[in-house]
Amino acid sequence: MPTNSDLSRPVRVRFAPSPTGDLHVGNIRTALFDWAYARHTGGTFIFRIEDTDRERVTDEYIAAAIDTLKWLGLDWDEGPEKGGEYGPYLQSQRLDIYAKWAQTFLDNGDAYHCYCTSEELEAVREAQKKANIAPGYDGKCREISAANLERYKSEGRKPVVRMRMPEGSTTFVDSIRGEVTFDHNFVPDFVLVRADGSPLYTLAVAVDDVMMKVTHVLRGEDLLSSTPRQIRVYQAMGVSAADYPIFAHLPFVMGQDNAKLSKRNGEVSIAWYRDRGFLPEAICNYLALLGWSPGDDVENISMKELTELFTVERVHSSPARFDMKKLEAINGDKIRGLDLAELLKRTTPFLIKDGIITGTPAELEVVATALPIIQERIATLAEVSQMLKFLFVAKFEIDPEEAPKISDPQSQSVLVKTAEVLTGLAPWNHESIEAKLRSALIEEMGLKPRIAFGAVRIAVTGSHISPPLFESMELLGSERSLTRIKAAISK
Ligand code: GLU
Repeated sequence: MPTNSDLSRPVRVRFAPSPTGDLHVGNIRTALFDWAYARHTGGTFIFRIEDTDRERVTDEYIAAAIDTLKWLGLDWDEGPEKGGEYGPYLQSQRLDIYAKWAQTFLDNGDAYHCYCTSEELEAVREAQKKANIAPGYDGKCREISAANLERYKSEGRKPVVRMRMPEGSTTFVDSIRGEVTFDHNFVPDFVLVRADGSPLYTLAVAVDDVMMKVTHVLRGEDLLSSTPRQIRVYQAMGVSAADYPIFAHLPFVMGQDNAKLSKRNGEVSIAWYRDRGFLPEAICNYLALLGWSPGDDVENISMKELTELFTVERVHSSPARFDMKKLEAINGDKIRGLDLAELLKRTTPFLIKDGIITGTPAELEVVATALPIIQERIATLAEVSQMLKFLFVAKFEIDPEEAPKISDPQSQSVLVKTAEVLTGLAPWNHESIEAKLRSALIEEMGLKPRIAFGAVRIAVTGSHISPPLFESMELLGSERSLTRIKAAISK
């Protein structure tokens, strides 16, 4: 049994996505664990792009994957843009390497040419189904008679290269699941190279892991069943069992509905979170604790702590459930932890993108004054636009959905009273505004604060969702505040 336990080699871990879309939560959790393990052990973090399927992996998705890792702070030691001793790190640039190995396997008899057509393979599958036996290639082309070979060639058939699986089984130790055995009756001979000469994932991944001297493969459990095939490729390459990478298959990340998260679901792509103003440190914090924990009931963890504490032994073996509310809570915490300059830097792009400001120094000054009063109240950076819009609009209008809420007689009398007591108020600041309104609306008129201040809030900010009212009015200034209140009265 392969023990894959030669720990004398320096640790080399790889994250090897096939970017057929934007990287999603599950991919990034894998990347984060790979990175954390490399950093924890002082090893090397390799970033490899598995792009042999060039119909589905595009340059845009590759660029986006690179960008996402950078944005999250998962810096790599070898990979795209960085290079490294074992490059190139894009599989599409390594095709000659895979072709050479495939030829070696053919020469050694570990692999063979298979001329079966898709119709023939389909017929085999049907027959297996009827006979109730495990589906898979039946080994027909393991031996081809000279006559048949002649016929296939004359028919113009192009062969695939197929790996010969010996009888028996493959056992390996998975760091998360323990000993795993695959009976080869369920691991049929598999294709290494397509008829057009392009390599398949199983060939490329195994060749690269060997050639890049990868010592640890931490990846999603969807790839568990491809492990015996990869081990078969190592054997054909002449790698001794002690040099196989150590495998650790991470349990799935499930959605709230218990369905598996998938990269085709835009909602779970990291780009989606980024566009909504989630902080990279919040995403990393949340994902780090999704299926791993440093022991106690830790909710907050920094990247530094993660690298100090991360061990594969502490990865849970049961699936983790993605919880949006929890991520939002962590994001809010991280936002509250930012200093003003940093918060300003991070929110400005959202305000510009949403057309709230253009980014002039005068605007930024206003934003900087307003941010401290909303910092406590936002869960994502994108919320700043909605919150601060009222300070910047050229032509103020109350949200049409909100307007009816202040047209009733009671709201109207609140607004009349507010205009009356605030006219001429000096100094104009949140303390003086609050004192005036409390005495006039709550004490004198006997109204509930929610009702009284709610009406003023809508009149002044246009929405019932806004930063704290009195601070908002201070920021807006007396003139604009009173103009808006009076405009709401005349309606
Ligand atoms: N490229 C594979 C994928 O994105 C993962 C390869 C691996 O980690 O072994 O599914």
